[in-house]
Amino acid sequence: MSTDTLPSAAAAPTAPVSPRTARIAVLAGDGIGPEVMEATLPVLDKVGELFGIQFEYEHALVGGIAIDTSGEALPPKTLETCRRADAILFGSVGGPKWESLPPPQQPERAALLPLRKAFGLYANLRPAVCHPELVHASPIKSELIPNGFDVLIFRELTGGIYFGQPKGTTAIEGGERAVDTLIYETPEITRVTRAAFRAARLRASKLTLVDKANVLESSLLWRKTVKAIQAQEFPDVALNFIYVDNAAMQLLKNPCQFDVMLCENMFGDILSDEAAAVAGSLGLLPSASLAEGTFGLYEPSGGTAPDIAGKGIANPIAQILSAALMLRYSFNAEPAAKAIEAAVRAAIADGFRTADIYTPGTNKVGTKEMAAAILARVK
Ligand code: NAD
Repeated sequence: MSTDTLPSAAAAPTAPVSPRTARIAVLAGDGIGPEVMEATLPVLDKVGELFGIQFEYEHALVGGIAIDTSGEALPPKTLETCRRADAILFGSVGGPKWESLPPPQQPERAALLPLRKAFGLYANLRPAVCHPELVHASPIKSELIPNGFDVLIFRELTGGIYFGQPKGTTAIEGGERAVDTLIYETPEITRVTRAAFRAARLRASKLTLVDKANVLESSLLWRKTVKAIQAQEFPDVALNFIYVDNAAMQLLKNPCQFDVMLCENMFGDILSDEAAAVAGSLGLLPSASLAEGTFGLYEPSGGTAPDIAGKGIANPIAQILSAALMLRYSFNAEPAAKAIEAAVRAAIADGFRTADIYTPGTNKVGTKEMAAAILARVK
C-alpha cells in the first residue's frame, strides 16, 4: 500500500490538486462484478480527465474466479497488487458454484476477511440514499419521505462483540454456556469517531452516536469519548445521541432526521442493512471500508446477484458510486466525487432506470445504457 503520494483523508478535500497518478487495484470478482466494473472505469477516466487525476488500473482475480483459476479466493498475487495500490475498487464475490466449499474457503470469507485484516480496514461506511425520484422503491410511505433521504452509516469494523475475548462455548451441567465479550478501548473509538466527524463535515455536519448507554458500559465509554472529541476538535459538527432500539425505529419512521450515524460494530452491522433496505434497491448503494491514512476498499453494498448475472441488466450505480467514495476518501478529490454523484442523480432525474428501479413511464435500460447515460452527464 502506498500512502506517500496523496494527502491524508483526514484533510477536508478542497480543490483538485496538480495532476497526479492514482493506482487502483481493480478486483471485479464474480457474478455481476465484472459487468458493473466495466461500466465504472470509463466514468472514472472521464472525471480523471476533468479533474487532473491519471488513474492506473491493475486488474487482479478475487473470489470464485480466483478459486477456479488458482485454488485460492485471495491469491498472493492479488494481495501484492493491492499492496502496490492506493485503493482497492472491489466488485463482489461468491455464488452458488462455491457455496458447497467448506465455509473458511468460501469466496466472501476467504477473500474479504483477509483483505480487511491485511489493510487494517477499521471503519465501514454505507451511505443509504433514497433519491426523490425513487421514493416509490423504498418500503417507507412516500408521504413520509417526499424528498427522499441521505443517511451515512459509519460502522466500527474491527472491535466489539464479534472479536472480544473471552469467546466460546463450554459444557456445563444441564447444557452448555456460550460467551461473547463486548469490549472497546478508547483508541479504537477515537479513530473511527474522528473519521466519522470528518465525513460529517463534508455533508450536513450532524453526527448521531447510536448506542445503548442505558445498559452497556461500553456505550458509556463511547459517549464520553465522542463528546470529548467533538468538544475539542469538531465543535462545528452538531452531536446527538440515540439508543439503538429507537434508532432502528426512527430509520423507518423518519430517516430524514439523520446525517451521519456512528455505530459500534454490531449495531452498525444491523442498522446498515436496515438502512439499505429502506433506501430501495441494493443496486444503488455503495460502501467503503477505510484504513488509517488514505487507503480504502470500495465496493457495492450488495452481492454478486447470481439471479441476474450475465444478462446485462444489473444496475451499475452502486459500483459507480463506490468509485465516487474512493475519490472522496482515498484521493482527496471531493469535486470529482461530487461530479460522479451529480451525474448519477441527473441520469435518474432524466428517467433512466435499470430493471431493479423501473416503474412504468420511465426509460428501462440495461447496464451499458445506464453507464453511458451517467458518463454523458459527468461534467
Ligand atoms: P445479492 O446482494 O447478490 O442480491 C440480492 C438481490 O438484490 C438479488 O435479487 C439481486 O438481483 C439484487 N441486486 C443486487 N445487486 C444488484 C444490482 N447491482 N442491480 C440490480 N439488482 C441487484 O445477495 P445474495 O443473493 O444474498 O448473495 C449472492 C451472492 O453474493 C452470495 O454468494 C453471497 O455470498 C455473495 N455476496 C457477496 C458480497 C461481497 O462480495 N461483499 C456481499 C453480499 C453477498
